[in-house]
Parts: sequence; C-alpha cells; structure tokens
Amino acid sequence: MRETLKMNRAEMLNRVLDRREPWDMIIIGGGATGVGVAVDAASRGYEVLLLEQNDFGKGTSSRSTKLVHGGVRYLEQGNISLVIEALKERGLLRQNAPHLVHDLGFVVPNYEWWEAPFYGLGLKVYNLLSGKYGFGPSQLLSRSETLERLPTLKTDGLRGGVIYYDGQFDDARLLINLVATAAEQGATLVNYVQVTGFSRDSDGFLDGVVAIDVETQQEFHALAKVVINATGAFSDLVRRMADPQVPSLIAPSQGIHLVFDRSFLPGDDAIMVPHTSDRRVLFAIPWHGHTLVGTTDTPISVPSLDPLPTEQEVQFILHTAAQYLDKVPTKSDVLSVFVGIRPLVGTGDRMNTATLSRDHTIHIDQNGLLTIAGGKWTTYRNMAEDCVNQASVLARLPERLCITTTLNIHGFHRYAVKFGSLAVYGADAPEIQDLMRTDPTLATLLHPALPYCGAEVVWATRREMARTVEDILARRTRALLLNARAAIAMAPRVAELMAEELGKEETWQTAQVTAFQEIAKGYVIA
Ligand SMILES: Cc1cc2nc3c(=O)[nH]c(=O)nc-3n(C[C@H](O)[C@H](O)[C@H](O)COP(=O)(O)OP(=O)(O)OC[C@H]3O[C@@H](n4cnc5c(N)ncnc54)[C@H](O)[C@@H]3O)c2cc1C
Repeated sequence: MRETLKMNRAEMLNRVLDRREPWDMIIIGGGATGVGVAVDAASRGYEVLLLEQNDFGKGTSSRSTKLVHGGVRYLEQGNISLVIEALKERGLLRQNAPHLVHDLGFVVPNYEWWEAPFYGLGLKVYNLLSGKYGFGPSQLLSRSETLERLPTLKTDGLRGGVIYYDGQFDDARLLINLVATAAEQGATLVNYVQVTGFSRDSDGFLDGVVAIDVETQQEFHALAKVVINATGAFSDLVRRMADPQVPSLIAPSQGIHLVFDRSFLPGDDAIMVPHTSDRRVLFAIPWHGHTLVGTTDTPISVPSLDPLPTEQEVQFILHTAAQYLDKVPTKSDVLSVFVGIRPLVGTGDRMNTATLSRDHTIHIDQNGLLTIAGGKWTTYRNMAEDCVNQASVLARLPERLCITTTLNIHGFHRYAVKFGSLAVYGADAPEIQDLMRTDPTLATLLHPALPYCGAEVVWATRREMARTVEDILARRTRALLLNARAAIAMAPRVAELMAEELGKEETWQTAQVTAFQEIAKGYVIA
C-alpha cells in the first residue's frame, strides 16, 4: 500500500528530494486544473508529483465568480454539449463536496415585454438539460415577487423576472480541500516550487523537470514518465521553456470583480444580467455576507500572478450595476477588487474573447509535453479525467479506470451549516473548534468586520501548508477579497500567529506584513 502524507510541506519536499526513480506523472501548476489532475491520477494509483510556483490557487482558481454552473450564456451561443457536460459536473460537485457547494437562486430582471417569454423558455431548456442533476425548476416571477427577492432592484420600468438555480462555492477553499484529497490518495504536492526547465531523453522527449524551491533557492531535478503542463494563463510560457518556437495556444483575458457590503444585495438571491453592452453576462451575487459584482473580459498580452484592474473595467462594472440597483454603488463603496485571468484557448477572433471557446483542450507538443488548458472550474473533474486518460497512454502506464465521479472531497459533510462561520471547513471544523477550546484567545476575531479568528490561522499553517500572510488572508480565509482594508489591519496578528507555528523571527513577521501590504494595495480602490 502507498504511503499517504498529511499536508505538510517539509515532508512533501523530502519525499521529492529523496526520490531517484521517475514519477508516473509530474504536474506543473497548482490551480483547479493541475490539482484536479493530481486527484484523478493518484486515485487511479499512479505516482504523482505536483509543483506549484507560488501558493496553491494563487492564479485564477481563487479569483473566479465562484459559480458552479452550466453557463446560461453558452446555451445562447448554441454550445449545448458544453452546457450538458457542465450541468452534470455541477451535480457531481454538489454530491462530492456538499460542505462547499450550495444552490443559489438567480433572478433575471425583466424590463422589456419580450424578456419574460424569451428568458423563461431559455431557462426551462437549461433546467431540462441538467436531467437528474437538476438544481430546481426555473419560474416566472411577478413584479412584486421579483422585488421581494431583490429588494434593492431598480423599480423604474420593472415588469417581473425569471428565477433559475445554479451552484455557488468557495473556490480557494475547494482547491485546498482538493490538495488534501490528492495527498490522501498518495500524491505529493508542493507549493513554492517553480519549474524552471526540462530534461530530455536520448530521443529528445521530455523525461523530467528542473525546479527551484523558492523558499531556499535550492535547485533540483525530478524524473517523470510524462510531464503535464497545467499552468493556465502561463501555459505558453512553460511550453516555450521546452521549445521557444511553439505557436501560442492561449489567448489570456482578464476579468475583475468588485466587492461591496451586503446592503447592496440584502436577500439570498443573485441578479443575472444576461446582456451587458460588451455582450457578456454580469452577476451580482451574495457571497460570505458581502455582494460580489462581476465580471469583465479584457484581452491581455502578458499574464501576471498579481493582475491589476483597469480604470475602464472598474467604471464598466459600476456603470452596469447602477443600471440595475436602486442603491447606486460608487468607488468609495468598493471594499475590494480582485482580478483573474482566463486561460482561453486562442482560436478565432482574439479581440473578442467573449466569443472564444470555454471548452478545454489537451495539446501534446512534439517533445511530449502535455498541456491541458481552458475549460472552467465547474468542469475541472471532467478535464482531469480526460487528461489522465491521455497522459497514461503517452507514458505507457497500465490502464486504470477513473473513480472521481464518486470520490468524496476532503471535508465532505452533509450538514456543515451547523458549524456556522466554520461551515466551509466541513468535517475539519470540529478540529478548529478544539483549537479554540484549548486556547480561548484563538477564538477572538481578527477584525470586527470579518468572521475570521486566530484558530483558523493556526489550523491553516499547521495543516494546510500556508506559508505566507497572503496565503492566509487571500486563500485559506477570503479576507483580502472581501475587505482589503480589514485584511491589511489583520496582517500583523496573522504574522505573529504564523511565526509561532513556523518558528520564525520578528524580522520574518515584519517582512511578511510589508509584502502583504504591497500586494493588498492592488485590491484597494483609492
Ligand atoms: C474572472 C473569472 C471568473 C471566472 N468564474 C468562473 C466561475 O464562476 N465558474 C467556473 O466554473 N469557472 C470560472 N472561471 C474559470 C476558472 O476560474 C478557470 O478556468 C480555472 O480557475 C483555471 O484553473 P487553472 O488551474 O487552469 O489555472 P490557474 O488557477 O491560473 O493555475 C495555474 C497555476 O500554474 C502555476 N504556474 C505557472 N507557471 C508555473 C511554473 N513554471 N512552475 C510551477 N507552477 C507554475 C501558477 O502559479 C498558477 O497557480 C472564471 C475565470 C475568470 C478569469
């Protein structure tokens, strides 16, 4: 039987450095795509190493709209197979991670006479396509029913609405739970290790990676039967480390979200605007006691780990939200702004990324590097299944069946709501409560505006491979995305608690707080 490890970076890294024989698969990139592949491959019994250059989820996978959805817009574009696949995955994700995925009502407000029959019919079809994985029937709403659900909606000219149901989740939390699942299945996953190059066999095929431990600057080499590039928007940069001549596969496009307090959307339902002026959909969504509004679709030329919003994007969201909300949001109401980069597969008209495919692509370069890109969070499991099917053939591994359709994700708990603000931890919540009982100072809130306490910092540092203050405030908790100024105020206490856990000096704490403040500036709108 294979040895499985808890999430502990030192132990994971030792396992990598001690190993001389090739891994069955090395995966580059610790976002939804890479970690999904690690879960799939490890649960089939393959020997898997995943390397992430920063923290797990540092890329797009912690900056999504947080919807588990079939994609109503793709239905309108006629991409029925993508919608059916995503609706099935939506159902499987709720089944396998009920502590993190829940149903959410989306109301499409109607201001024109034709909107009710048009969207009413479209959303009926959307619901029918979900078959046994349905989340609840769509329904026409009268004007008063619409306002009952969305009390802050603009009333001028409002005729009624259509409600349909999709899923909502916490993206970074699901990712951390997937890392734990992969580790439990025997995978080795290390954050803060950057792949900087490749090694080749005598035929010129890639047979390993050269990587650097970002914390110590130690360089090492690891052998693999197949190398999988799951680096999202960075896919072409990694492909060009192996072959500088390869043509581009990815057309990166960034999307921003603005976060406001709950008063802008006080109910339990979301607003879905099906047609913005740039032919996209816009959502206003209740999330962790706040209101999330997004998103944009702006083609960019070079991807960055800390992308910034443009003034135009901020104005676009404020302007579009003002058309629908009675309480008009302004810049000074923005508690946080966060930006993600879509790894769209770049065929067709590059200036209009809204029309690019949301399907995933598996591409194998002549040197044997397998790249998986595109798709979306909702379909990560299906993407991983497809990828491991192909990677195992490429690596000449024995065929083994995928088991992830019924594999519970770490933290699985059917009644996690009973844990209150710790619900997202699912089955881990009682252990965090134990920390608070043992040391009541850890139960104190880190900031009055947010529900996070010291026990979560200790837990994430001890058990979830958090290495920096940013890891805690951006991804183990969601403080930075919910309220950037509150997160900045929390940083010194977080650094202090982490330093105790990791045995770090005061100089480390100061450097961490400074580094976090620098990153957090990008989330504040002046
Ligand atoms: C604004 C926006 C909203 C979205 N909303 C939704 C939604 O609501 N629902 C949905 O289903 N999907 C949504 N998506 C899509 C979804 O978020 C992405 O498809 C998904 O997160 C991509 O994951 P990934 O793992 O491919 O990329 P990433 O999460 O970016 O991961 C790639 C990782 O590779 C690492 N990496 C890069 N180079 C190296 C290297 N040399 N060595 C080691 N590691 C490296 C990076 O650090 C990064 O962590 C949204 C996307 C955007 C941009």
